[in-house]
Amino acid sequence: MNGRLSGKVAVITGGAGGIGLASARRFAAEGAKVCIADFNDEAGQAAAEEVGGLFVHADMSRDEDIEPMYAQAAEYFGGIDILYNNAGISPSDDNSILDTELAAWHRVMQINATAVFLCCKHGIPHLQQRGGGVVINTASFVALMGAATSQIAYTASKGAVLAMSRELGVQFARDNIRVNALCPGPVNTPLLQELFAKDPEKAARRLVHLPPGRFAEAEEIAAAAAFLASDDASFITATPFAVDGGLSQAYVTPE
Ligand code: NAD
Repeated sequence: MNGRLSGKVAVITGGAGGIGLASARRFAAEGAKVCIADFNDEAGQAAAEEVGGLFVHADMSRDEDIEPMYAQAAEYFGGIDILYNNAGISPSDDNSILDTELAAWHRVMQINATAVFLCCKHGIPHLQQRGGGVVINTASFVALMGAATSQIAYTASKGAVLAMSRELGVQFARDNIRVNALCPGPVNTPLLQELFAKDPEKAARRLVHLPPGRFAEAEEIAAAAAFLASDDASFITATPFAVDGGLSQAYVTPE
């Protein structure tokens, strides 16, 4: 593995599991010093140990956790170069707008959108102090296209992430700060595996839209994040960066 991120300090929210953990491993393998920020202390500690980084307890549902998270990481590593705002939730009580309660809407918007706002608000000044840096905000393919199997708050929150990232990318371009919205397609996670086990028909209905005929692996999203974080992506900013196997561009897929 080359050292594209050598000497860079990255703070990854939700870095204790799923795509965040795969990214922490990939970033560390490419030379980055990684701060895992998560509300799962046990998994977060283990992840930080594994990648030789720092664990900071931070709950994205608590506004007051976010500024100190960056302060702690900056003090420990001497600065921050990469904000990877990855933590997100998609709870089962968020579905059709006709059934979704306001409480579920607020919970999803808080973690998926408001926390990303606060991460950018409190994290970008650290990048400015370094003379530049990178922000990766995790959106989703559902920010790009509509689904009849609706998760209305989730989709709206990811749309907010997409628009916010575009605006920040434009605003901070001359500060040498790149901001992109990473838009993964469906990823092979425990949640999806459970869906397949419980309801193969429902799962197959999703798979038919994917040109490669399979979901992504977390490592494939991590590889894209590492690219965006690196100087190889030096002219890529303010963009919806789809890593979706062609899903968002497909009309009919192979049988
Ligand atoms: P995951 O559930 O596997 O992992 C999420 C991580 O975030 C966990 O470590 C969890 O502890 C942490 N987390 C959850 N709530 C938190 C909170 N309040 N404060 C701090 N940490 C918290 O999720 P994932 O599948 O790896 O998804 C990561 C991101 O990618 C999310 O933003 C998700 O919306 C997005 N995404 C996922 C998929 C997919 O198919 N998995 C597709 C598109 C986008």
